[in-house]
Amino acid sequence: AMSASDEVQKAADAAKTVGDGSSPTIFDKIVSGEIPSNKIHDDELCIAFRDVNPQAPVHFLVIPKNRDGLTQLSKAREDQKALLGHLMYVAQELGQKECPGGFRIVINDGKDGAQSVYHLHLHVMGGRSMQWPPG
Ligand code: C5P
Repeated sequence: AMSASDEVQKAADAAKTVGDGSSPTIFDKIVSGEIPSNKIHDDELCIAFRDVNPQAPVHFLVIPKNRDGLTQLSKAREDQKALLGHLMYVAQELGQKECPGGFRIVINDGKDGAQSVYHLHLHVMGGRSMQWPPG
């Protein structure tokens, strides 16, 4: 049977899907290691790991370790410009290494951008000839 603390945990988990910036997301658990991931990069500011549902032969995500209000790109603050630059720099470094023929970087923002996890992440995809326009 489900205990009261299980119920609390379930509600807490559900709250994590809300993109209000106040609750941790599944990506915070990936950063902490609570949820395992196939990590390909780890530095002071960010990690990169393979997407569990890859849309191309190579598909990984670059995310800041400290979300700090960066639930989505459009919430970025002026003082986060250097962090944003770092994420993009790491994304291209890994992109070149994994996809010498070229790659695509995507950031989904908000409802119309088809964002599902409210912890900023750069998608890096490649390993095949990408199509344009995207859906
Ligand atoms: O940009 P968007 O928010 O839609 O992308 C979230 C991405 O995170 C998806 O590509 C999904 O497959 C990935 N994901 C993951 N590991 C999880 C949860 C989501 O790689 N545990």
